Amino acid sequence: MRFEHIKSDLELSKKDYRSNRKPTWCSGCTNFGVLEALTNVLAELRIDPAYANIVSGIGCSSRLPFWMNTFGFHTLHGRAIPVAIGSRLARPDIPVIVTAGDGDLFAIGVGHFVHAARKNIDLTVICMDNRTFAMTKNQASPTSKKGYKGSLTPYGKLSIPLNVVEFAIACEASFVAQTFTSDINHMKDMFSQAIMHRGFSFVNVISHCLTYHKIEKLKKDKERLIDINKELGHDPTDKIAALSKAAMSLKYDQDEKLKIPIGVIWRKDDAISFEEEVAKLKEKYIKK
Ligand code: SF4
Repeated sequence: MRFEHIKSDLELSKKDYRSNRKPTWCSGCTNFGVLEALTNVLAELRIDPAYANIVSGIGCSSRLPFWMNTFGFHTLHGRAIPVAIGSRLARPDIPVIVTAGDGDLFAIGVGHFVHAARKNIDLTVICMDNRTFAMTKNQASPTSKKGYKGSLTPYGKLSIPLNVVEFAIACEASFVAQTFTSDINHMKDMFSQAIMHRGFSFVNVISHCLTYHKIEKLKKDKERLIDINKELGHDPTDKIAALSKAAMSLKYDQDEKLKIPIGVIWRKDDAISFEEEVAKLKEKYIKK
């Protein structure tokens, strides 16, 4: 079992992971759901708050470490992953969780994502994918759909969106899942599996910015969810099947009859992590 050594002997609740700061997110922001799920999961895993590290970039969702009573870094735009890697290499015994938005992770930060995933660095990356740069007043992000009308694209975004789950698999992330922000139990399950996975784990949380998007869209999207593991019997260790399920993601933009896939899309549990490679090198050369 992972993280046995940092489990608290105390019964913990989600409140033990929350700082005394009141979130400045807009009321009803779907990021509250992620905060709720993450604090619940850490309590259920009984990870001592003094041994967890939450790292973020810049953006609405990247404020999350402020609301946590754990170690945390609120870094620069797009730079959460490099800081998380440094922290992870310094303390490979504690979980390091990156919480950031789609703009932060997949625009300016995308180069870091590619190489951290490919090296299988043992991080959990949670993307709050609201498909816009919300904090800077609604510019189209890499995951916004084609035709999206944002403040800098009044006639509609011209390019197609990045399918981040397909991209994460192509980058050799060893755990890839998708979940939905108002389904707390599903989110908890995905976060828990991702944190306990040894290697680079990525969870895309389909989120909605309720300031720039309509609540009706969130409600409609919730009706379209399909749990690919439970309802379609998807085996996440089958890479061909994983790629086909990942390809379903975002197609739902073009056709409202299509379902929105959630669940564990891909996992490879025997992939060696970068930290394990570093430890082997140290063992071999430093002793000599
Ligand atoms: Fe949340 Fe959107 Fe408000 Fe940002 S602007 S805090 S994403 S509702």
